[in-house]
Amino acid sequence: MAAITTTVPQVVLQSSTGQRRMPVMGLGTAPEAASKVSTKDAVLEAIKQGYRHFDAAAAYGVEKSVGEAIAEALQLGLIASRDELFVTSKLWVTDNHSHLIVPALQKSLRTLQLEYLDLFLIHWPITTQPGGVKYPIEVSEIVEFDMKGVWSSMKECQRLGLTKAIGVSNFSIKKLEELLSFATITPAVNQVEVNLGWQQVKLREFCKEKGVVITAFSPLRKGASRGENLVMDNDILKELVDAHGKTIAQICLRWLYEQGLTFVAKSYDKERMNQNLQIFDWSLTEDDYKKISEIHQDRFIKGPTKPLLNDLWDEE
Ligand code: NAP
Repeated sequence: MAAITTTVPQVVLQSSTGQRRMPVMGLGTAPEAASKVSTKDAVLEAIKQGYRHFDAAAAYGVEKSVGEAIAEALQLGLIASRDELFVTSKLWVTDNHSHLIVPALQKSLRTLQLEYLDLFLIHWPITTQPGGVKYPIEVSEIVEFDMKGVWSSMKECQRLGLTKAIGVSNFSIKKLEELLSFATITPAVNQVEVNLGWQQVKLREFCKEKGVVITAFSPLRKGASRGENLVMDNDILKELVDAHGKTIAQICLRWLYEQGLTFVAKSYDKERMNQNLQIFDWSLTEDDYKKISEIHQDRFIKGPTKPLLNDLWDEE
């Protein structure tokens, strides 16, 4: 019997070739040490289930595996062409220097075995000395972030056809305002943390007004770290679970969908991956929204540096 696949709705992004469609939900691929499933197997399974959007980054060290999964999906006939997929990758802070950006994307493409990305993002508005990926980032390695020079090279990546669209990640309103003050190409996307415990109302309003699509990361607020989870262990959300017969994860993702956002959830588990796709044919109620508005708000991902930077989020 053929597997049942889910079709994920799409949004339209502005890109070099006019309009580019992005499935609202993508599969995250940030590594988790505890994961027993390989990225290659997870991406292949996701393609079987109907995922068409994959969120990678040079810093995740997964580009090779994502590329191998895509090559195998093509070989197996799970997809007819690479064009059916939407692949994002991100520029790491060590390459956030205008002369290193085109070569960094060319390296990502070689590793992914792809001719182009659908979306290339500046991972953080931070530049460090060139070199290999170190995480967390040592503050002593940080140098000035030349936003104009960096954006100009991002545009060059798009002009060369290496990526269909360009965007940013972890940009505050203040940093977006600065970028928009000179940008001749508006960032198609700002990928930032949004979840029920960090709802980002102001940034979302700003991006909507400026035509920048938000992609929510850590939509379940789980990330690679463990411990108390304001969302998955939330008593208010447990009431919604009982009322809807859905899981907390599904309520989180449905809420993002109803906000008109795009989002990248990471699950490498076959069942949970499938569960996360089952959010497009039911709705939250007004009463749910009242309860959701009571959830305590606190940023989960505070920054990638050691120690944390005071001005990274511009106090937003
Ligand atoms: P997340 O998607 O909020 O949570 C992932 C965790 O939740 C995993 O441990 C996963 O475990 C578990 N999970 C997934 N579905 C579940 C379900 N239905 N029920 C229970 N548990 C479930 O966290 P994230 O990985 O931090 O964020 C997602 C993606 O966003 C990343 O992978 C990455 O692509 C991107 N991201 C970007 C940035 C950035 O700076 N731009 C920062 C962080 C993340 P299993 O795999 O075992 O299911």
